Amino acid sequence: MSSKENPPKKKGCDKGIVKRFKMRLDLIFDYNGLVNQGATCYLNSVLQVLFMTKNFREAVESHCGQDQKTADFHLKSLFKALKTSETHTKDILSILGIRNVYEQRDAAEYFENILSMVNPYVSKIFKGHLRHTMRCSEGHVTSVETGPFWTLPLSIENPSDSNKTYSVRDGFEKFFKSSTVSEMYCDQCNEKTYSTIACKMEHHPEILTLLLKRFEFDYHSMSYTKNDCCVEVPHTLRTKNCDYELYAVVDHVGSLRGGHYTARIKSYDDHNWYVFDDSYVRQPNPQSISHMNNERSQSVYLLMYKKSRAPDQPEEEIKKRGGIKVYGRGMEENRRRIEENKRGME
Ligand SMILES: [Zn+2]
Repeated sequence: MSSKENPPKKKGCDKGIVKRFKMRLDLIFDYNGLVNQGATCYLNSVLQVLFMTKNFREAVESHCGQDQKTADFHLKSLFKALKTSETHTKDILSILGIRNVYEQRDAAEYFENILSMVNPYVSKIFKGHLRHTMRCSEGHVTSVETGPFWTLPLSIENPSDSNKTYSVRDGFEKFFKSSTVSEMYCDQCNEKTYSTIACKMEHHPEILTLLLKRFEFDYHSMSYTKNDCCVEVPHTLRTKNCDYELYAVVDHVGSLRGGHYTARIKSYDDHNWYVFDDSYVRQPNPQSISHMNNERSQSVYLLMYKKSRAPDQPEEEIKKRGGIKVYGRGMEENRRRIEENKRGME
């Protein structure tokens, strides 16, 4: 039957096909995108990670009040809208103080900013604690410092192997290895001795976030540069007490200022991976899913791991032993200290 002979019926038939096709699409793509307000892909990527993190989303939904000046309130509104349709982020941009939406910024910085602004009950699943212990050459403890962290920054050292691949697993393990630092004064020895510093994760967060330091200041060119080095991403991470499983990745492609952020997240509803690219949400092609076990990537920037095995030693025991001392200097200061300590170790 040609359309000339019976146009109305053809039209109705098309509608039916479109409706059925759309229903099928709805079944596959359960998630909605976030509108890019200019160059705000850095924010969209981390907001989608937070939305897709079950405990975080539930805490936002159950623990935020009616105060419109809080980040919690706007996150709750955003999450509600995101459940049904594509959504804009104007209110979140405003509460984060972002005026120039055309300037690309650092996704990790805004991830930490959001976590610092929300109710501590809401953000606690991302918060871990590190303990740095310095010992003199005789083994006397000369200083102990503990502090919270949102992300563990891993320096991407130039890989020496022929494949030119940086191993995240090796970098993570190295982060906790003790190293020799410069001479420090020891009260008990009553003199300066070579000291070692060791870093330990005192509280394992529910979600462990690793930051690959791709954006670094280069003293030769006196400007920030991006390290595009290929990294090998382990699907699971093991610490002494905990196992972690990768469930979200924030990718950055392109140059320092003109690049683009996207997120890949494993859904806790259907356990499938989804790619969140501003307004577009899609499932990755089967090939890239199979590559995600120990994938090699030049774009991964933030890696989120979910705890899959609880620590043998509960946090209460740590508190009984003398408590966790949290420095009042804030996360940014603590991150700087972590990095300084790491530099001291190298
Ligand atoms: Zn000593």
